[in-house]
Amino acid sequence: MKIKRISAYRVELPLHEVTYKWSGGKSVTVFDSTIVRVDTDTGLSGFGEVCPLGPFYLPAYAEGVRCGLKELGPHILGDDPRELLKLNYKMDRALKGHPYVKSGIDIACWDILGQSANMPVCELLGGRYGETVHLYRAISQESPDEMAAKVAGYRAEGYRRFQLKVGGDPDTDIARIRAVSAQLQSGDRLVADANTGWVQHEAVRIAKAVQNIDVYIEQPCLTYEECLAVRRQTPHPFVLDENIDSFDVLLRAKNDLAMDVVNLKISKLGGLTRIKQARDLCVSMGIAMTLEDSWGGDIATAAIAHLAHSTPTEYLFTTTDFNSYVTVSTADGAPQRKDGRMAASLSPGLGIQPKMDVLGKPVVVVE
Ligand code: MG
Repeated sequence: MKIKRISAYRVELPLHEVTYKWSGGKSVTVFDSTIVRVDTDTGLSGFGEVCPLGPFYLPAYAEGVRCGLKELGPHILGDDPRELLKLNYKMDRALKGHPYVKSGIDIACWDILGQSANMPVCELLGGRYGETVHLYRAISQESPDEMAAKVAGYRAEGYRRFQLKVGGDPDTDIARIRAVSAQLQSGDRLVADANTGWVQHEAVRIAKAVQNIDVYIEQPCLTYEECLAVRRQTPHPFVLDENIDSFDVLLRAKNDLAMDVVNLKISKLGGLTRIKQARDLCVSMGIAMTLEDSWGGDIATAAIAHLAHSTPTEYLFTTTDFNSYVTVSTADGAPQRKDGRMAASLSPGLGIQPKMDVLGKPVVVVE
């Protein structure tokens, strides 16, 4: 089997909540998502999705996905999409860095592998654990009362895990954590994700101010060293996210005991092949994970579901159903949330059928 064409479609994904806001005044109203399609000489096609959280979250931006595909695509035409490690080795030699550019191709090739093997991606990634997986709901940065009301509302929809977007004014963030924690019930989990937004001394002060609250602290500061300094001064369970973008830093963080949970995102690491390597390593090292991507719609959610559902339950801290945040559906067959949980498709590959009328004409074609 050979790759004969790589195409990209640009899709705008507005939000049910209109705007998503997080640390440092950053926000997005319409997400710019790239659906990547890989066609083969056998007639099988696979799909992937890459959707950065705007251009200011990770070193990634939406147009960069499309530009990168034009650069990278010609190097893998004629290659077998099912030989995924070899394909990734070749992509890494052809284009240094830029993992988010490779992610959509890699996901699409897993979709092809699953279809050709007549197996769901979840089973090819290691096996299906349990019936469903736990979802968290990200709570956009608002006033403490508004965030508490949103948590109560999403709790009524079945979510039991909440990730507060903090990383704003320190005193307001303390009030946000206190107001939301008052809504929680036994079995709920609360994460305060500062998304690099706190200066080190303020992060230590905030953690001390909420020390009697059952809350995880996620990525308080910009650098790994600042986060480690905060980690060493707080009793809270600790999550690292933005800084963990390579195997080197993952191993360093394990060695430093810098985190209790790690947030791994498919496009941050470069696709399902690379995140599977990191996921399997974390299971071996005893580190639980939030497994997700930076954002996306139906196809990204399907890929996330296969990854999360193939992870031993006690090591899956939580995962995300981004397709329930956005108003546009790009594929049939994607996971649908029920009672705050979702499941990976039982169909071969990703188990999705893209809506070509929504995708429109491709904006990049490499053949
Ligand atoms: Mg995070």
